[in-house]
Amino acid sequence: MQQMPRDDEVFAIIGREVERQNTTIQLIASENFASRQVLEATGSVLTNKYSEGYPGKRYYGGNQVIDEVEELARRRVCDLFGAEHANVQPHSGANANMAAYFALLEPGDTVLGMKLDQGGHLTHGSPVNASGKLYHFVSYGVTESDERIDFDALHQVASQERPKLIVAGATAYPRIIDPEPFRSIADDVGALFLFDAAHVAGLIAGGVHPNPVPFADVVTFTTHKTLRGPRGGCILTRADLAEAIDKAVFPGFQGGPLDHVIAAKAVAFHEAAQPEFADYAAAIVRNAAALAEALVGEGFRLVSGGTDNHLMLVDLRTFDPELSGKKARLALDRAGISLNENTVPDDPRPPYIASGLRIGTPAVTTAGMGPAEMATIAALIGRVLRNRDDDAELAAVRDDAATLCSKFTPYPDLA
Ligand SMILES: *Cc1c(COP(=O)(O)O)cnc(C)c1O
Repeated sequence: MQQMPRDDEVFAIIGREVERQNTTIQLIASENFASRQVLEATGSVLTNKYSEGYPGKRYYGGNQVIDEVEELARRRVCDLFGAEHANVQPHSGANANMAAYFALLEPGDTVLGMKLDQGGHLTHGSPVNASGKLYHFVSYGVTESDERIDFDALHQVASQERPKLIVAGATAYPRIIDPEPFRSIADDVGALFLFDAAHVAGLIAGGVHPNPVPFADVVTFTTHKTLRGPRGGCILTRADLAEAIDKAVFPGFQGGPLDHVIAAKAVAFHEAAQPEFADYAAAIVRNAAALAEALVGEGFRLVSGGTDNHLMLVDLRTFDPELSGKKARLALDRAGISLNENTVPDDPRPPYIASGLRIGTPAVTTAGMGPAEMATIAALIGRVLRNRDDDAELAAVRDDAATLCSKFTPYPDLA
């Protein structure tokens, strides 16, 4: 094979990202550390193959081996979640959602999803996203009193608007999303029901959150968040919707699948089926509870008062009315703590500034940290946000963060 000169420039950048992941605290709720075997499959020669179509029905030759890996991925994920049919080809969670809409809806149809400033995702009808441009989205939200999903109001808006589809699932909601009341409301108004499990797929696989598969017509999720696989999406559905979903993904929405990523998804589904993964999922939730309690101890108000999943939302307005989510995120970044700003319910600030922080425990749990480290992290966050203009203090926290990470290094052999 033709040899090309080594690209030192790109590999030096990758090396610096390995170092960043190894030495700073990763609290972005949608991120995780994929295993070495997931990375290995993602970096395999399967990236070379064209395989438009599905196992046994391809448009290109030479797919005997690829068929096996896609079949294996489909079988494993159906077993993991108890689903009748799986499509493992979506390149991302957003693609999985758009393909599902494409399968179930006509342009202009009404869809009921969660308000974006209260936890809903971009693909749940944002006016700047194709979902919001192609479909007529209406929304439900959380109550003012306990900041949990308001099922009475949801039922009311569903009865008025008669949506063709109800979407459950969120990108920033710290509580369990029970699929059962969504199903009964959908049945009452004659709607289909899609559960977007992007964030919580790993918690469901690990048995710590309710499985939406028996209740929803379609379940979409990402494979790279709590599920800890490669970056990608997946769709689960009933046998009678299988053909419509498959056609919507290909040829409806995508071209050739990413077979290297599908192999890595198969690895992740295998990992998620192990008993150790149930321990991992329980540990994520335990760590989130510990971090939430410690943050309350530092004087922060949490949306809904706490968490029962892998994430929490800090409402900074009571801590310091001058401190926006964005300012807080920038200060924490300088101190070696990585997270994102997020709107809180009825946020007076726009989404790119926001009044809250979203904090998640999947990655730090993968790294091996436990409740004691969560208390340390809460104290570091408190120090940064109380001393955000003090460069020496931010540098000191950065050193402390590196010391903590040196005991919980996700990729010691890549360094
Ligand atoms: C992350 C997320 C998605 C989109 O996933 P991408 O892979 O980033 O496209 C969709 N829905 C929800 C609820 C999410 O949290």
